[in-house]
Amino acid sequence: MLKTDILIIGSGISGLFFAMKTAKKRPDLSIVIMTKETAKNTNTQLAQGGIAVVTDLIKDSFNKHIHDTLRSGGGLCDREVVNMVIKQAPERLRELIEIGASFDKNEKGQWDLGLEGGHSQHRILHHKDSSGQEIEQKLLKMIKKMPNIELLENHMVIDLNTETKKAKTTCTG
Ligand SMILES: Cc1cc2nc3c(=O)[nH]c(=O)nc-3n(C[C@H](O)[C@H](O)[C@H](O)COP(=O)(O)OP(=O)(O)OC[C@H]3O[C@@H](n4cnc5c(N)ncnc54)[C@H](O)[C@@H]3O)c2cc1C
Repeated sequence: MLKTDILIIGSGISGLFFAMKTAKKRPDLSIVIMTKETAKNTNTQLAQGGIAVVTDLIKDSFNKHIHDTLRSGGGLCDREVVNMVIKQAPERLRELIEIGASFDKNEKGQWDLGLEGGHSQHRILHHKDSSGQEIEQKLLKMIKKMPNIELLENHMVIDLNTETKKAKTTCTG
């Protein structure tokens, strides 16, 4: 039977980022990432356009990004979550760059910011048209170097119970 301190399901940006940050903070804990197919078979890998982050505080602002997001969300967004995500985005971007993810710059050496639907400002950082692939690859590379993380591919979590029962998994590989 497999035992671990922390079980993470999924090897997209959220699972890998959480695993990487937790492993750094708590090297005493064991972490297992289970993912139902190959590690890179995720929506993250498919993302093309890029990441919306306020990087130009002269033309853009957190308030503009928040306003655009709430308007595009048509009343369905949780304002507090929108605030948190947008204000923390520059810091998350810095962490991605630290692990080697690269984003395109223009001839002046500034971020080559794209404009996408719903955004009133150019604020999309991208890596060519394969931003997700760039992020997924760099995160996987980092995860594989961390001794307290085990990545199990072709493991589908099919019945997750807490407290009374244990998670069942099936190996699809
Ligand atoms: C074609 C496309 C283009 C996109 N373009 C952009 C873009 O330009 N900008 C942007 O911000 N967002 C974009 N997105 C959205 C973005 O990709 C997702 O919001 C983001 O990648 C979600 O990351 P995640 O880690 O939460 O999930 P995912 O990357 O989807 O990862 C989920 C993981 O969970 C695993 N999993 C699921 N169920 C189980 C199970 N039962 N057992 C084991 N493993 C399981 C999957 O195999 C996978 O590894 C795009 C999405 C698509 C599909």
